[in-house]
Amino acid sequence: MSGDEKIILVTGGSGLVGRAIQTIVSEDSRANEKWIFISSKDANLCDKKSTEAVFARYKPTHVIHLAAMVGGLFHNMSHNLDFLRNNLLMNDNVLQTAHENNVHKVVSCLSTCIFPDKTTYPIDETMIHNGPPHPSNYGYSYAKRLIDIANRGYAQQHGRLYTSVIPCNVFGPYDNFHPSESHVVPGFMRKLHDLIADGNTEDKVFTVLGSGKPLRQFIYSLDLAKLFLWVLREYDSVDPIILSVDESQELKISEVAETLVKAFDFKGKIAFDSSAADGQYKKTASNAKLRSYLPDFQFTPFHQAIKETVEWYQENYDQARN
Ligand code: NAP
Ligand code: GDP
Repeated sequence: MSGDEKIILVTGGSGLVGRAIQTIVSEDSRANEKWIFISSKDANLCDKKSTEAVFARYKPTHVIHLAAMVGGLFHNMSHNLDFLRNNLLMNDNVLQTAHENNVHKVVSCLSTCIFPDKTTYPIDETMIHNGPPHPSNYGYSYAKRLIDIANRGYAQQHGRLYTSVIPCNVFGPYDNFHPSESHVVPGFMRKLHDLIADGNTEDKVFTVLGSGKPLRQFIYSLDLAKLFLWVLREYDSVDPIILSVDESQELKISEVAETLVKAFDFKGKIAFDSSAADGQYKKTASNAKLRSYLPDFQFTPFHQAIKETVEWYQENYDQARN
């Protein structure tokens, strides 16, 4: 293998973000890059031996580490310990096995969900460890925050370039549409799809959990995948970087519901179940650092990305993660 050839192992390669990276790589392939996408069928990354075996098999020079226990607000609230333990194990196994195998660069994935609950806005990359996360998802948050701590340790002790990115809420094809596990966008798609399956009539009620008032930034998985490729190829710092749409693109959950209602041409009514949790009111993140590198990056407009995802879901409902 010549000096600039890369073997890139993508953990979590079968998930929402992994499948989007597969799509973008197929459109933007480079002769010196060999990509390998793995799922839990190839290795249980909670297990060190299984992790070692998959690294021994593929001998990666670079790793994009996406594998994680991932879920929406309600799944996090009921499984904080599982989110903590599974993610701690996977992250430690992947980073340490990468180091033992002399992997040059690892790009891991944090989330804007892990920032402090009580904070000033907009949130930026320097604020990850500034206070406790929102109590709804402390397990996921502390496990993810420790990736950044570990990356600094691998740099300090071993000179490694192990870094991380911080996406806002992601959606797109191959998402998890399971009713109790999903994030809000796939959760809404599943509900609307099922509601109109036996007729799109005015008496149907689409229930949004919580008040509909919380604010979120959403990135289309295919846009995020393009940014992941840029980070892998060009971004050479251990410090994390937020990968998010602009602050001006932040939406109320009620606006997300309305966009989905239009995309499904739903004829019924929207109701808000205010007895259900809202989670963190907002997590407004600044993408100024990203913009300083890529000032002209074009994000797919939200309604367009939603339309494409709804079309994908309707065509692939039987194979989707429901
Ligand atoms: P996802 O669709 O749920 O995919 C999770 C992936 O992890 C799957 O490929 C799954 O494999 C794999 N995995 C889970 N447990 C594993 C284990 N024990 N061993 C090996 N592989 C395992 O997740 P995603 O939404 O693409 O998330 C990708 C990354 O982005 C995660 O690190 C997540 O924290 C981060 N992120 C996501 C969002 C979001 O809104 N979705 C926002 C910010 C950050 P199987 O398919 O075989 O189960
Ligand atoms: P979060 O961004 O980590 O809070 O994760 P989610 O994507 O799960 O939730 C975002 C917001 O959508 C929260 O304020 C929820 O209360 C709200 N929401 C409304 N209806 C639903 C639903 O059916 N599923 C989910 N997951 N969230 C919902």
